[in-house]
Amino acid sequence: MRKRHIAILGSTGSIGRQTLDVVRQHPDRFDVELITANNSSDLLIQQAREFDVNNVVICNPDKYAQVRDALADTDSKVFCGIDSACSLAAADGVDIVVAAMVGFSGLRPTLAAIEAGKIIALANKETLVAAGSLVMERSRSCNAPILPVDSEHSAIFQCLLAAQGNKLEKIHLTASGGPFRNWTKAQIETATKADALKHPNWSMGAKITIDSATMMNKGFEVIEARWLFGTGADRIHVVVHPESVIHSMVEFEDGAVLAQLGCPDMREPIQLALSFPERLPLNNRKLDFAALGSLTFQEPDLERFPALGLAFESLKKGGNVPCILNAANEACVAAYLQDRIGFYDIPAIARDCMATVPFIAQPTLEEVFSSHEEALARANGLIEKIAR
Ligand code: MG
Repeated sequence: MRKRHIAILGSTGSIGRQTLDVVRQHPDRFDVELITANNSSDLLIQQAREFDVNNVVICNPDKYAQVRDALADTDSKVFCGIDSACSLAAADGVDIVVAAMVGFSGLRPTLAAIEAGKIIALANKETLVAAGSLVMERSRSCNAPILPVDSEHSAIFQCLLAAQGNKLEKIHLTASGGPFRNWTKAQIETATKADALKHPNWSMGAKITIDSATMMNKGFEVIEARWLFGTGADRIHVVVHPESVIHSMVEFEDGAVLAQLGCPDMREPIQLALSFPERLPLNNRKLDFAALGSLTFQEPDLERFPALGLAFESLKKGGNVPCILNAANEACVAAYLQDRIGFYDIPAIARDCMATVPFIAQPTLEEVFSSHEEALARANGLIEKIAR
C-alpha cells in the first residue's frame, strides 16, 4: 500500500486523537497532511509538531496568532477559519479526509472534501442526519466513497462485504443503552449532567455522550444507516446490548445473521477506514470469550428514551425534519451541559421544533442551512423560557 495522506477535521476531539494514535502505530503507512481544531490550540500545536503536519487550521480567529507564533520555527503552515479547513481538505495532497468535527459544523468541510472526490472516513454522523440525501447524492456523483467510522456502521459495512450482492433484509443496530439503561423514568428525570456524562463502555466527547444518554445518538445512527446502506427505517432494528461487544449485525432473507465483534475501541473502525481494504495490526485489547461468559440483549424502551422514537419519526416524515431534529438537539445539549435545562427537556423541545419549523420535502443545501438556523432559533427561544 502506498502511503496515504490524511486530513483530520477535528483533530483535537476524541476521534481525532484516536486517529492520530492509529497513525502513530503505522508511520510508514500514513502521513498527516492537515489537522484542524476549533479552539484547542495547545493540543493542536503539539499535534502539528509531533506529526510534522503540513497544514494546520485553527477555526477560532482569537487563537490564530498563538498557533502561528508557536509553529513559526516549523514547516507547518498555519491558517485560520472554517473556509481554510474546507479548501485545504479539498486540496491535491490529501487522499483521505477524516470527518470528525462535532455536529452540524462538519457538514460544509465534509461536502467540500466530497466535491473534491476524496475518500471520506465519516465520524460526523450529523452530516448525514442533516443532509443525508444531498450528501449521498454528491458522494456518488463526485466518486467520493464514504467509509463509516461510527463503530456500528463500520460493523454493518464489514458484514455487508460478505453479502455478495444478496439483498439485505434487516439491520440490527446495537446500542449500549448508555448510563441510564437501568434507571427508572423518575430517576432519569432528575439526573445530573455528571450522571449523564458517565458512559459505561465508550469514552467520547461531551456532546455524543449526552446523545448516548438520551439515546438520540442511536436515533441519529438509524438515520445514518438509512443513508449509508439505503435501508428503509422499517428494516432497521435497534437492540440494546449492554456489553457493546457486538458492534452491529445484518440479517439476510434466509434468516442468517452476520455480526461483527470486538472490544469497544474506536481505533479499530478508524484504522479500517484509513487502511481499507487492508487490515493492519493494532495494539488494542482482544476479545476473550470465556472471560466474557455471556452477551445479553433487550428491546429499547421508547418511554424512557423518547429521543429514539423522535429520530424514527423524523426519518418517516423525511425532508428537512431530521435536520430540524438535529439542530434542536444541538441547542438543547449545549443548554443541558450548562445546567440550564433538564434531561427530558431535550426531547420535548426537539418534538416541538419538529412540529413547528416549516416542512420542506426536498430541501436544497441552502434550505438545509436555513432549516438548521430556524430550528436553532426556535429551540433557543424555548430554552430561554424554561432555563434556570
Ligand atoms: Mg456509534
